[in-house]
Amino acid sequence: MARGGWFRKQSRNGAAEATVPDGLWSKCPRCGVISFARDVERNLNVCPKCEYHHLITVEQRLTLTVDENSFVEMDAGITSLNPLAFPDYDDKLNSDRAKTGRKEAIVTGRAKIDGQTLLIGIAEFGFRAGSMGGAVGEKIVRLLELAEQENLPVILFTASGGARMQEGLLSLMQMAKTSAALARLDQARIPYIVVITHPTTGGVYASYAALGDVIIAEPGATVGLAGRRVGNQDMGAKLPEDFQTTEFQYRCGMVDQIVHRRDVRGTLGKLLMFLTEARTYVK
Ligand SMILES: [Zn+2]
Repeated sequence: MARGGWFRKQSRNGAAEATVPDGLWSKCPRCGVISFARDVERNLNVCPKCEYHHLITVEQRLTLTVDENSFVEMDAGITSLNPLAFPDYDDKLNSDRAKTGRKEAIVTGRAKIDGQTLLIGIAEFGFRAGSMGGAVGEKIVRLLELAEQENLPVILFTASGGARMQEGLLSLMQMAKTSAALARLDQARIPYIVVITHPTTGGVYASYAALGDVIIAEPGATVGLAGRRVGNQDMGAKLPEDFQTTEFQYRCGMVDQIVHRRDVRGTLGKLLMFLTEARTYVK
């Protein structure tokens, strides 16, 4: 969530001077309304005025989604190296590790929703904009392989700028790697649910985010392969106002249901029950 900085004024010597403490106010990036940060937090980090769903951390998402104290993290130590010796990549990884307390842009593990055991992966957008490099792909594939071994459903929360450019082809390869693992899961008839959150774009959208048996999405999220600027250039035509949003993708059949943040947990609980039941009747 964007915070602080809107109430600063320049003093005579040019130094920024805070007039209110940082973190007290929150400005909505969509409608511009300034609210008490605490009010926005109480509202599940959704703008009380326009319902904009702010980015949230993995911890916040877990609190909202899974049964209390049920989450056990897996593969927390897997992290990307710098295989192409890309300039500044090591520094950026280190600074994002310090900022988020995570080693990579996705957190995976085992959890329960309404008492039902599942495997879950949640993107950390604060880490390299949730981009998919070799470590993200590996963590997802390990989660999917464990699901196959233990016959457990999988839920992935996506939020990503796409493939991680600093890893070049190794990053793009993760699209095929995760998609192949999902095809095996599909053959094993194991439920796979995607929850798309803002923003889910590029190689992540073009692979595991678009392959769910059921795909739900938070309202107003940016969802698509390329943004509207690229789309406008490529197609030489004016695109709809809501191009590449949850609502646009829903109209086009790429999203099954638009679900407000307050209802995501309940929806997932019902879906898990339904999909698990259905498997016992449909062979
Ligand atoms: Zn707003």
